[in-house]
Amino acid sequence: MEFDLIARIRQRVATRDDVVLGIGDDAALLQPPPGMQLAVSMDTLNAGVHFPSATTPADIGWKALAVNLSDLAAMGAQPAWCTLSLSLPEADAGFVDGFLDGFLALSAQHGVALVGGDTTRGPLSVCVAVHGFVAAGAALRRDGARSGDDVWVTGSLGDAAAALAAMTAGAVSDRAMRARLDRPTPRIEAGRALAGIAHACIDVSDGLLADLGHVCSASGVGARIELAALPASPALARFAAPVRWPWQAGGGDDYELCFTAPQSAREAVLRVLATASTPVSRIGAITDGQGVIALDPEGQPWRGTRAGYTHFA
Ligand code: ADP
Ligand code: MG
Repeated sequence: MEFDLIARIRQRVATRDDVVLGIGDDAALLQPPPGMQLAVSMDTLNAGVHFPSATTPADIGWKALAVNLSDLAAMGAQPAWCTLSLSLPEADAGFVDGFLDGFLALSAQHGVALVGGDTTRGPLSVCVAVHGFVAAGAALRRDGARSGDDVWVTGSLGDAAAALAAMTAGAVSDRAMRARLDRPTPRIEAGRALAGIAHACIDVSDGLLADLGHVCSASGVGARIELAALPASPALARFAAPVRWPWQAGGGDDYELCFTAPQSAREAVLRVLATASTPVSRIGAITDGQGVIALDPEGQPWRGTRAGYTHFA
C-alpha cells in the first residue's frame, strides 16, 4: 500500500540540478555547492498536539514544511532539499493528495526539492527534515547576542495564539488570524538578509519571551522588552493591549524572527528588511545579567498572566 502512496508523491515533486538522485533509491544523492555549510533541521507535527485535529490535509502539509523552513530562516540559510516521514492511520490517498497540495505549494515558493522520506502506518504524524546552505561563518546563531544590542522582531505577534484561543473556546476566529495559525510564512528572505548584520536570531515558535529566553541563555545575557512596542496585526489590534499581550509575548506558532543587532546597525536592519519586504519592529534591548523582563507602558515588570487564553471562554 505504501508503494502506491510513494508513487503519488514521486509523480508530483519538482527537482533541482543539485539533486543527483531523488525519490526511488535507498538514499538520495545531493550535491552541495562548494564552500557552503549545510544547515540541517527537523521538526515533527503530531495530530492534536501541533495542529488541531480539524486542520485540513493541505494546511497540515503547508505547516509541516513551514515550521522547518522557519528554522532555516532563523539560521540565515537558503533552503534546498527536504525529506518527509509520513505516519498515517490508513493508506489514504485523498489525505496524501491534499497534504501535497499544501506542502508542494510552499516548497515551490522556495525552490525546495522533496528528495526522499518514509511512509508508515501509525497514528497521524508528520516529520520533515530540511537542508539548506549557508556561507561558512555567516549563520545566525543563538549565542551571539551582546549587552547593548537592540532586540527586533519581524512582522506581527499573537495572531496564531489568538486564533487558537478562539477555536479552543468554540468561537469564530478571524480569517486572517486563522491563516497565521494554519499557514505560517517562513521568513526566509529576512533571515538571509540579516546574515552579517544580526548578532543572534531565533524563530518565534514557542512564544516571544520563551524563545528570546533561549537566545539570552545561549549568549549569557539578559533582555528587556517593551510590551507597548510589540507589533500587532490590524485584526489583533482590535483587542485592548493588556488582552493581547499574553498572545503576543507568550503565544506560540507565529514563526516570526526575533533577532538582536548592534545599535549601529539600525539603518542597515531597516534597509535590508525593506528590500526583503518584511516589516520589522524594535522591541527592546539586550542587557547584562540573565532572564527576559517584559515592561508595561508604566515601566513596571509584567507578571505574564495567561489571561489572553481565557478571553474566549
Ligand atoms: P526503503 O525500504 O529502502 O526505506 P521505502 O519503500 O521506504 O524504501 O522508500 C522508497 C523510496 O521512496 C525511497 O527513495 C524513499 O526515500 C522514498 N519515500 C518513501 N516515503 C516517502 C515520502 N513520504 N516522501 C518522499 N519520499 C518517500
Ligand atoms: Mg523506508
